[in-house]
Amino acid sequence: MKRIAIIGAGAAGCFCAANLRKMAPEASVTLFEAGPKPLAKLAITGGGRCNLTNSFEGIRSLKEAYPRGERVMKRALKEFSVQDTLDWFTAAGVPLTLQEDHCYFPVSQNAMDVVRCLQRGIKGCELKLNALISEISPRASLGRNDNMSTNRDNMSVISSEVEKSKWMVNGECFDYVVITGGGGSIERIAAGLKLETVPPVPSLFTFNIKDKALTSLMGLVVDASVSIPGSGFKADGPLLITDWGLSGPAVLKLSSYAARYLSEAGDKAPLSVNWLHSSESEVRDTLAVLARENAAKLLLSTHLLPSRLWEHIVLKAGLRKDIRWGELGSKGMNKLVATLVGDNYFIEGKSKFREEFVTCGGVSLDAVELGTLQSKKYPGLYFAGEVLDIDAITGGFNLQAAWSTGYVVAKSIVKSL
Ligand SMILES: Cc1cc2nc3c(=O)[nH]c(=O)nc-3n(C[C@H](O)[C@H](O)[C@H](O)COP(=O)(O)OP(=O)(O)OC[C@H]3O[C@@H](n4cnc5c(N)ncnc54)[C@H](O)[C@@H]3O)c2cc1C
Repeated sequence: MKRIAIIGAGAAGCFCAANLRKMAPEASVTLFEAGPKPLAKLAITGGGRCNLTNSFEGIRSLKEAYPRGERVMKRALKEFSVQDTLDWFTAAGVPLTLQEDHCYFPVSQNAMDVVRCLQRGIKGCELKLNALISEISPRASLGRNDNMSTNRDNMSVISSEVEKSKWMVNGECFDYVVITGGGGSIERIAAGLKLETVPPVPSLFTFNIKDKALTSLMGLVVDASVSIPGSGFKADGPLLITDWGLSGPAVLKLSSYAARYLSEAGDKAPLSVNWLHSSESEVRDTLAVLARENAAKLLLSTHLLPSRLWEHIVLKAGLRKDIRWGELGSKGMNKLVATLVGDNYFIEGKSKFREEFVTCGGVSLDAVELGTLQSKKYPGLYFAGEVLDIDAITGGFNLQAAWSTGYVVAKSIVKSL
């Protein structure tokens, strides 16, 4: 009987195990989990509601959802699509519902239903809890490679000869190993095997901005676009003003696109806000019409944005509170347009978004076969979920990556059994 070890009983590990149980019930699957229970993180996803996946309707390209790993996800989604996710969970007793923002949640709005469903799915697997794995080693199978050393310095020699190797995990021998999850201990395993990795940095966070005039507007939400001048990074969507700075989907997206850039900059960078998410010429045309039609009215009485924010922008543009549209002139108009489309702030640091974050970086996609997610260097070693250099913006895309990559690995292993 073939033995499969899965490191990490999170979303990807349990989904992979549940599919292995379905596809190859005769195989023996052991899950090693560092924590005291499986799926602890899944239980708190989506604020306890679990945003399982996304219809992908709100995104123009896969790269928009997956700033890292788009190529792998394209292939993985062909193997296990959003529809497959809906069918899989519905068949397993968790019907899903689609929100207006394209996010799917369980009809029950309870992440624990997803957790219990996966717990049912891994029944029959051996689950080893409080089992932190910090090292795995390839071991030659009986025969030609019998007395091979696993000395790390000799790893390149070993790797060229481990074709039919077995794996030692926690003193037990396995035919296949699947590494999932992220974080320091997984990095140690990767380092031990001299796997190519991309240094991990956090993604999905909100921006701290020390600007009292801005933060006094906390609670306001507008459709805007945000960018980091000079970097090329830009994102749009609802922008939320908070008591510490800026948040909302536009900022979370930008934090994802610019995760590595911001990390290298010590989480400090200029930020430009286009409050109307429109081009300069569009804004100029709109304002010209307003100025013509409301010449005698106060600028503050006819606003394009919530009144408090509009006043903030008028003042920031250096205009008087009591100025009338007819008094704006071309100078005043230029200042107002410039502030509306390029209001400048400075990001002083990051804050968490409802405790949700993902890791940008991990095992390099150059180190894995894209179709099977098997290590190029070590046959029999697979990766799924956040351990790979794949991460997404918020909206269910990260869990979809866990389901799709977990499925691809299960299918690849079953094919080679
Ligand atoms: C608060 C929060 C909310 C989120 N909400 C959403 C959401 O609604 N929708 C969405 O798409 N994404 C969400 N995410 C992201 C999503 O949870 C992750 O992308 C997903 O869980 C990744 O799955 P994974 O199995 O790769 O990793 P994990 O779920 O992190 O599972 C990895 C498991 O491996 C274990 N482990 C790690 N190292 C070792 C080791 N050395 N030995 C043994 N075990 C080990 C860990 O204890 C963990 O249980 C959220 C993240 C957070 C933090």
